[in-house]
Amino acid sequence: MKTFKFAETSVFLHNGDLPDLLDHSGEIGVDTETTGLNLSRDRLCLIQIGISKNECHLVQFKKSELEKVDKYKNLISILANKKVKKIFHYARFDLAVIRKFLNVNCENIFCTKIASKLVRTYTDRHGLKDLCKEMLETDLNKSQQSSDWSTSNLSKNQIKYASHDVIFLFELKKKLLEMLERENRLELSEKLFSFLQTRVDLDLSGWCDTDIFSH
Ligand code: MN
Repeated sequence: MKTFKFAETSVFLHNGDLPDLLDHSGEIGVDTETTGLNLSRDRLCLIQIGISKNECHLVQFKKSELEKVDKYKNLISILANKKVKKIFHYARFDLAVIRKFLNVNCENIFCTKIASKLVRTYTDRHGLKDLCKEMLETDLNKSQQSSDWSTSNLSKNQIKYASHDVIFLFELKKKLLEMLERENRLELSEKLFSFLQTRVDLDLSGWCDTDIFSH
């Protein structure tokens, strides 16, 4: 394991699985990095697990080891734990990647992108960078967004970028929840988060570009 420190955040890059005892509050931030955005072509490279604003764990996947999911039993167990709330930004893609490569049905979700679309109706800017800027006054550096995540030697910049994709999700969720409550859209958001399982089924079965509800 390698440890990095960026401002107040400690980032732990694990050689294999997460540690046996990972202390968390029942809520984690999750993101994935892949070789691209095509679910049938691209592969999982990295999973980021944010514990708080100050702690983030990275699990790297080598191509040759993607079949050996037994190696990642602690990671799989936390993702499959229905009692743990998993916060994502654009959960739809990450959930499909997690289902496809780790064979995990990840439930109990909060998606900051869906929540943002339900309450920030005054804008069409729902990227993580936009949310961090407007709601947290934090400037997110997305320069490493399209970089080679399959490399075995991740750069310090990549590690920093990867951690930044999960450590702000806690504060964003808190603010978005207040807005969802204020606008009476909390129940609707929960129904949408539950529907993500079905959306992922469709995405992984060839209906990813189809709006099944359209005429
Ligand atoms: Mn990311």
